[in-house]
Amino acid sequence: MRINELISKRKQPFLSLEFFPPKEREAWDDFFAKVETLKSLSPLFVSITCGAGGSPQTNTVEIASRLQNDMGLETMAHLTCLGGGRPEVNTALEKLQSAGVNNVLALRGDLPKDADPADVQSDFRFASDLVAFIRSDFPDMGIGVAGYPEAHPESPTIGSDRERLKAKIEKGADFLVTQFLFDNRLYFDFVDRLRQLGVTQPVIPGVLPVLSLKSVRHILSISGASIPGRLYLDLEAAHESGGPKEVRRLGIEFARRQIRELLAGGAPGIHLYTLNQAAPCLEITEGLFD
Ligand SMILES: Cc1cc2nc3c(=O)[nH]c(=O)nc-3n(C[C@H](O)[C@H](O)[C@H](O)COP(=O)(O)OP(=O)(O)OC[C@H]3O[C@@H](n4cnc5c(N)ncnc54)[C@H](O)[C@@H]3O)c2cc1C
Repeated sequence: MRINELISKRKQPFLSLEFFPPKEREAWDDFFAKVETLKSLSPLFVSITCGAGGSPQTNTVEIASRLQNDMGLETMAHLTCLGGGRPEVNTALEKLQSAGVNNVLALRGDLPKDADPADVQSDFRFASDLVAFIRSDFPDMGIGVAGYPEAHPESPTIGSDRERLKAKIEKGADFLVTQFLFDNRLYFDFVDRLRQLGVTQPVIPGVLPVLSLKSVRHILSISGASIPGRLYLDLEAAHESGGPKEVRRLGIEFARRQIRELLAGGAPGIHLYTLNQAAPCLEITEGLFD
């Protein structure tokens, strides 16, 4: 079923879970075992990224198919368009459709390092081109798109980024999933501004658990998102006083508070970046979605 239909039927706040394909095939069994553990959280849907760490789209398609069919989870496959031409994108969509995967997160993907956006040769230059293609050739597909409460790093202004986002919705996207954020005011302001632009679709905030200083530094360096100074200083202090265990404890406590506040402020649900880890996700969500 299309995710926007699931959202509109849902009376309670929901949880969705994002995974990435393990790099090595030998790690797949362990990966599916973790997903099985997290199935106990009854996510409204799960999503599987593509391209991360050089993993090819074929892995995403195969894993999406297994999540949907073997594990009975409503699944959204991330699909980037920058690296592939129309035939590759079409093939991926056909495979997903025939596997019963009815939802994709339509993305442009990151530019190669130091590339000028104007020089990129692709059948689809922006995610909005991909959305338009899917809506025309795969009209039954549910389509999510990425939104950036802090604006996408390439955008010259926040206003222009919002307008580009609106274009993705106008081309046929059903809902938005945000880049992770640590300051909930960014999410609420983002939603307000989109509503002022006439965007009525659900906006699902992304929550990234901070489980170690090293991983948060890495993720911040590749995403362009920011972390409040206070939180960063608290994490550093936690590291000094109690080492990695204390950082993890603080990160989990922060994520729980963040989720509570987002839901209390009216977010329809939470998209949790699981980092393919089951235990911290169980701790973070305990009692919050009952
Ligand atoms: C929830 C989420 C999941 C993600 N999953 C993945 C993943 O699985 N794999 C992966 O590789 N990456 C993933 N990404 C990262 C994403 O691919 C990058 O952020 C990428 O740089 C932009 O993708 P987009 O779909 O937002 O692009 P777009 O919406 O196309 O936007 C890219 C930039 O172009 C600008 N723009 C858009 N349209 C126009 C136009 N017509 N003219 C001029 N400028 C324009 C936008 O303002 C923005 O600055 C994810 C991001 C998020 C938030």
